[in-house]
Amino acid sequence: MNIVSSSTATKTIEHPDTRENTSTGDDTPKFFHYVKKDSIVESAVNGTMVVALCGEAFPVRKQAKPGSPVCPDCERIYRGLRKK
Ligand SMILES: [Zn+2]
Repeated sequence: MNIVSSSTATKTIEHPDTRENTSTGDDTPKFFHYVKKDSIVESAVNGTMVVALCGEAFPVRKQAKPGSPVCPDCERIYRGLRKK
């Protein structure tokens, strides 16, 4: 497993969002969502769904890659959590 490390307990993972992906035919997700690391581990082990900061629930399938777009809702919530 290749997981991008960070110093926080929150990571981005790919969400294969197919709702708006009706014609491209590739499997490139549009957004990454912020998900708690513990949830990712649990999903990887148990195959359960994870819930992103924005409330999206989906199974973990891929890890985030540098430069990938991040879900705007997740990003806003994430920044709010980090702000002190
Ligand atoms: Zn999100």
